[in-house]
Amino acid sequence: MSNADLTCSFCGRPKPDTQILIAGLDAHICDRCINQAYGIVQEEISQEEQSAQEGIELKAPKEIKAFLDTYIIGQENSKKVLSVAVYNHYKRLLQKKSKDTVEIQKSNVLIVGPTGTGKTLLAQTISRFLNVPLAIVDATVLTEAGYVGEDVESILSRLLQAADYDVNSAQKGIIFIDEIDKIARKSDNPSITRDVSGEGVQQALLKLLEGTVVNVPPKGGRKHPDQKFIEVDTSNILFIAGGAFDGIERHINKRLNLQAIGYTTVKEQKQVDKEAILQYITPRDVRSFGLIPEIIGRLPVLTHMNPLDKTTLLSILTTPKNALVKQYIELFEMDGIKLQFTSGALNFIVEKAMQYNLGARGLRSLCEAVLTDAMYELPNSEVKELKVTKQYADQRLANIELPKLKVVS
Ligand code: ADP
Repeated sequence: MSNADLTCSFCGRPKPDTQILIAGLDAHICDRCINQAYGIVQEEISQEEQSAQEGIELKAPKEIKAFLDTYIIGQENSKKVLSVAVYNHYKRLLQKKSKDTVEIQKSNVLIVGPTGTGKTLLAQTISRFLNVPLAIVDATVLTEAGYVGEDVESILSRLLQAADYDVNSAQKGIIFIDEIDKIARKSDNPSITRDVSGEGVQQALLKLLEGTVVNVPPKGGRKHPDQKFIEVDTSNILFIAGGAFDGIERHINKRLNLQAIGYTTVKEQKQVDKEAILQYITPRDVRSFGLIPEIIGRLPVLTHMNPLDKTTLLSILTTPKNALVKQYIELFEMDGIKLQFTSGALNFIVEKAMQYNLGARGLRSLCEAVLTDAMYELPNSEVKELKVTKQYADQRLANIELPKLKVVS
């Protein structure tokens, strides 16, 4: 074959059309293909370096959801929505910025649902999965700067603490703001006087949610004026806000009824599931409840939690990776005692939790009450087996005033 007949094995260009054609064992490559290949290699390397640098391994939403499934029972919708939000959040972090990059908005999340249904657990499980620091804060303790209470910035001190004062790690962490509904404006009419506990705090939160650089006193509070401030950038912190929004059903109902008159037929209206009205929640309802539109805009992912029914409570007791029943079995096993629960006993505990409105948190108090005597008596005794039956559980709970077990959150 003459030199002129040689072609690039990648693009097929004949040698005369190339500047250089390099020969390999049985192939040739031209200067253009070399350049292109080099570009691809560089891009791959820089992507890998970037993710290593960010310390983040991008996990697909299905993988995230599968992990959540091992700890959280039910709440399918929230788990799915949160998995996607987290995925998009970390994609945003890994996005390569240039002047014409499409700006991806933060995927901060708002979870609406009754207390004790797993909102905090969701945030905890996500942070465990991603191995990023998590700060759980209560919105009710926050006040505007200058008022008695905690400044909004104190949230970041908590996150820094959770990150062992590693600023980089804190800047990729998660902040769960509980009881966000408690800082709602009390009425739809903005008052003339400042509303210290409500709107002012919402205003102060805005910047944090969106992304800003804050000088954070490492130990929180304003009591040590001499301590050095740490600069924390909140742009890549994922905020998850949760709240029970007691009474929001009224707003949803009102809107649905209004819509029914306006657009939908009576038949469609009847299909509205009265029991699970929260599933119809929209940002408009949250706004009617009293969150300011700017806050709602900065918590663009809205999801709801379902109330826990008997079957769900029973599963919570037995199926998650660290289910209560599994924990007690493990504790007893450490003393060489084989612990078993009959299904009658488990159903009984769940019924008590439902009857006294103790929810999932109550399951723990109930199990503790049922097993305290055994945990006290059995270690170092001859007994090597304990079968908790309905009758046994009933007897142990007989002397306890169950309503007192209620865990107020
Ligand atoms: P919330 O934040 O909604 O008030 P939590 O997440 O604090 O509720 O839930 C309280 C406890 O109840 C959790 O620690 C967990 O043990 C249990 N729990 C609640 N909901 C679930 C669920 N869906 N799956 C598994 N456990 C749950």
